Amino acid sequence: MTSEATILSTPIEYLTGISAQRGELLRKELNIYVFKDLLEHYPFRHIDRTNVDRIGMLTPAMEYAYVAGKLISLDIVGENRGRRLIGKLKDDTGVVELVWFQGINWVQKILQVGQQYLVFGKLGFFMGNPQIAHPDMENFTNENASGKKSLEPVYPTTEKLKAKGITGNVFGKFTKELLQKINVKDLPENLPADVIEKYKFISRFEAFSQIHFPASEKHYHHALRRLKFEELFFAQLRMNLIRIARHRFSKGWVFDKVGDLFNDFYNHHLPFELTNAQKRVLKEIRKDAGSGRQMNRLLQGDVGSGKTMVALLSMLIAADNGFQSVLMAPTEILAQQHFQSIAGAVKDLPVQVRILTGSTKGKVRKTILQEVAEGKVHILLGTHAVIEDKVTFHNLGFAVVDEQHKFGVAQRAQLWKKNTIPPHVLVMTATPIPRTLALTAYGDLDYSIMDELPPGRQPITTIHRNEMARPQVMDFIKEEIGKGRQAYIIYPLIEESSKLDYENLMKGFEEVKSFFPEPKYWISMLHGKQPPEQKETNMQRFVTGDTQIMVSTTVIEVGVNVPNASVMVIESSEKFGLSQLHQLRGRVGRGAEKSFCVLLTGQKISNDARERIKIMVASNDGFTIAEKDLEIRGPGEIEGTRQSGALNFRLASLVADKVMLEAARETIDTLLEKDPELDLAENLPVKSFLHTQKAKTKWSKIA
Ligand code: ADP
Ligand code: MG
Repeated sequence: MTSEATILSTPIEYLTGISAQRGELLRKELNIYVFKDLLEHYPFRHIDRTNVDRIGMLTPAMEYAYVAGKLISLDIVGENRGRRLIGKLKDDTGVVELVWFQGINWVQKILQVGQQYLVFGKLGFFMGNPQIAHPDMENFTNENASGKKSLEPVYPTTEKLKAKGITGNVFGKFTKELLQKINVKDLPENLPADVIEKYKFISRFEAFSQIHFPASEKHYHHALRRLKFEELFFAQLRMNLIRIARHRFSKGWVFDKVGDLFNDFYNHHLPFELTNAQKRVLKEIRKDAGSGRQMNRLLQGDVGSGKTMVALLSMLIAADNGFQSVLMAPTEILAQQHFQSIAGAVKDLPVQVRILTGSTKGKVRKTILQEVAEGKVHILLGTHAVIEDKVTFHNLGFAVVDEQHKFGVAQRAQLWKKNTIPPHVLVMTATPIPRTLALTAYGDLDYSIMDELPPGRQPITTIHRNEMARPQVMDFIKEEIGKGRQAYIIYPLIEESSKLDYENLMKGFEEVKSFFPEPKYWISMLHGKQPPEQKETNMQRFVTGDTQIMVSTTVIEVGVNVPNASVMVIESSEKFGLSQLHQLRGRVGRGAEKSFCVLLTGQKISNDARERIKIMVASNDGFTIAEKDLEIRGPGEIEGTRQSGALNFRLASLVADKVMLEAARETIDTLLEKDPELDLAENLPVKSFLHTQKAKTKWSKIA
């Protein structure tokens, strides 16, 4: 709801046929409050009035039916929950059945047997006979029989609205009246003239008129193009403006030097040469942290790209500048692992590292809290326990959130309160999302990408086997163990508490044990129901190589790093999504040895699952996989994207309209580079339009 222009903010009750009661329902069901909302309630299709289907020619291949005929009967059948209203509509080629499950009394009252009707709706076939459930009905008069405008809009509606007579084409009546009430001045231009010229866009008024009542297919297409561009343009522009505003107004701690800690570590303790991507990101972070404004940076790097080292080096710079750092990980296991690798890496340096998790209790906890409050601890690692109110810092300057998608925004926001000026925030995620999507969804943040793996990594070979081949797969694991390697076997535990899944895991464990008997082999098992100490022991035994096999649920999914492991077997892999499979596979291929991933599935799997497995077999690259995932599932489903609404477009699709998305982004980049404040006269239309839109980006400041 906005105040774009007075007439567009008129309540919908001012239209003929919208009573207070209907108005209330429109608000509740579809968020339609004012004229503008109705104008943006776009038709999902148009029907060609001159082109009525003949009932005898309806086939299961047709998605919708649009027929004209006489209602020859109308009866209530069935009882209780099976109660429904059935009508029969006849033309001279056949009969189609019409069915209502809801609003029966109302429908029965308004329809008349013997009358002629135009009927539109989703077509189904029941025992070979055509059937339309909850059709849109319109009296068939001579007026609409011939000579009517050819393309009529059909709108999305809901069952409740239909029951009050607001069917998919009744909206057309409202919109028609609305369009008569407004004129060009009410929909002023909102794009710069040169953009309109470049893309040959039609005017806004024209676009809104034609999207509802197109004069032809071609007109509709032009309207759609213009309005899609607007959506993509303003969604991205808003995010970019938030980023620019934050850069100008948010104060941040200044890290103006690289000191002894960093230099000593970099020159004497760094176990490997940094990749170019790591160097580049580190530079970006240093620049941000030295700028005097708060950094709010998202780091996207594929699994295994070495994000932890970037985090550690950044935290050393913070320490060099007299600031404390905190690193928050989503699981206890991961926090432990970070602690070991980070504390191990800096053990010869005067840097104090501590770990704080839910299982840090009693005296130990008290001491740590005190040391953190006094500033004796330079780096605090842990789970979300580190953001609890009890934890106060002496001088927190840098915060790292590992595996960002596992935390809620509200949790991350806690970090901001831990000092008088918020710390710099580096958010790391290994659930890559495609670049175009990332730039849209996270356009308000600073954004870094690590698209390079450390050298010497061999690509993981991924194979698909059905579960009948399990014995051969176990033999293969034996061979690898014979060479000194280790293996993971993962079971799907969709719900940690599900009894069935848990039993599956236990059964699997017994089976694995029978293949790999003690004392020749030792097995670790890990699942969410274990107490933290037990988890830690099991993990630790695998890390040190005391056990050769890790049987686990997906608790192992994120971040775990055991470079000697070279085989990842995923049981029932048809049950996993693409990003999860990629995450799991990322547990191997971390050392110099050739690694393998075996995707076991049942014999019969769905086409979707087969497609996912095929993609996994074909590609090792997280960004490629993310791109495919987007194509298969659409942006709403992609892990790691925000529900901020930034990606909820009415018309545009991030998949189908990728080219336009890019075009809109380039337009914005050029525009903002020249005129970041939108002060130039040529950008006035853009600026005025933005002013009329209410800000709805409450959380968008937080990475
Ligand atoms: P992720 O980005 O998935 O969090 P990690 O930070 O766990 O990856 O790093 C994966 C592995 O790669 C670790 O064993 C780490 O020590 C190693 N690694 C990181 N950077 C490099 C590098 N530049 N060269 C070689 N190995 C590296
Ligand atoms: Mg990691």
